Amino acid sequence: MTISSDELSINEQEIIKLAQELVKIPSENQPGNEKAIGEYIATWLKNKGLPAQLQEVEKDRFNVISSIKGEGPALLLCGHMDTVPVPNPAEWTYDPFAGEIKDGYLFGRGSLDMKGSLACMLTAFVALKEVEEELSSDVVFLATVDEEIATKGAKKAMEASDIRRVKHGIIAEPTDLNPVIVQKGHCWLKIKTRGVAAHGAIPERGVNAIMNMYPVLSRIQELDFGKGDHPLVSGTTVNIGLINGGVKINMVPDSCETSLDFRFPPGVASESILGKITTLLEELKAEDKELDAKIEVIKCSDPVEVERDAPIVTLLLKAMDKVLGSHSEPLGVPYYTDASALRGIPIVLLGPGEPGYAHQKDERIKISSMLPAAKIYAMLPLLQT
Ligand SMILES: [Zn+2]
Repeated sequence: MTISSDELSINEQEIIKLAQELVKIPSENQPGNEKAIGEYIATWLKNKGLPAQLQEVEKDRFNVISSIKGEGPALLLCGHMDTVPVPNPAEWTYDPFAGEIKDGYLFGRGSLDMKGSLACMLTAFVALKEVEEELSSDVVFLATVDEEIATKGAKKAMEASDIRRVKHGIIAEPTDLNPVIVQKGHCWLKIKTRGVAAHGAIPERGVNAIMNMYPVLSRIQELDFGKGDHPLVSGTTVNIGLINGGVKINMVPDSCETSLDFRFPPGVASESILGKITTLLEELKAEDKELDAKIEVIKCSDPVEVERDAPIVTLLLKAMDKVLGSHSEPLGVPYYTDASALRGIPIVLLGPGEPGYAHQKDERIKISSMLPAAKIYAMLPLLQT
């Protein structure tokens, strides 16, 4: 006989209060100051009678890992502790670090992405401790650092013995309680062109590095990087996110640098994107012998995909049925998460709140979505696939 989610000690007011407390502890990345929130979570777990291992990632930056039950294959409940920064606090209607509640929403930086969902996960995790003997698998909780920049926390977590025994898991990214089984890959590249400086009044004496960048960018826009034909995500996209070049208006610029953000579906690999850009630069150099252009990889990771009939998907849809009375069909998303660093572990994203408010001013989470999220997380290790 499976326990129903209503029999678990999961209390909405406690989730909200915990979420507010987490929002009140800034953990902006950059700079990546997750120390205080990590200590708060570790103490909170210990006060509830659960272990809390602090896994150092960098100085003053550590993951928090906890587990219920012994040494066997485990289900992972994972969330990140860092948030994006608040560039202009004055533009916010509510103090980004006060955890204020208004019109059914909890406001604040990280309320949605993802301190609200961390509060749901932590509450579910503690409730499971009380019904330990009913669990169909071990449960491991992981709170990471640095998800918003380079997923250093998730990469380091792969070394922890508790993470090595994880068979599958959930990351609590805000998805409005929709299961997400596909995440696009990303490839961040820098292209640099060099020229020869000269006085702006005699430009023919120099080589303009900005003008050399122009054909590179326009030809990139024309290239086909692959559609992948995946039903849940679109084809490859490219965003020219940064460009820098030149020193003064009256000087011919001798250098130009641009940063490109490629997002690609399953069926396309980062190597093929890199290969196409490399070939393009060779072609352009053959057309213009003076062209000096170089490519540099900032970082790349391939798409993450979990099969629609994987046990974690079956389990999650069952848990949604139990708690919500129905489930939505699994989706794909164009962004990457810690799942791309926890490679090899089948991971589905599901979390409370509307994703459109993430990384925005007046970030907020819909309070009514938090209790169902906590119950869904708690049901996962109580059900059988
Ligand atoms: Zn997030």
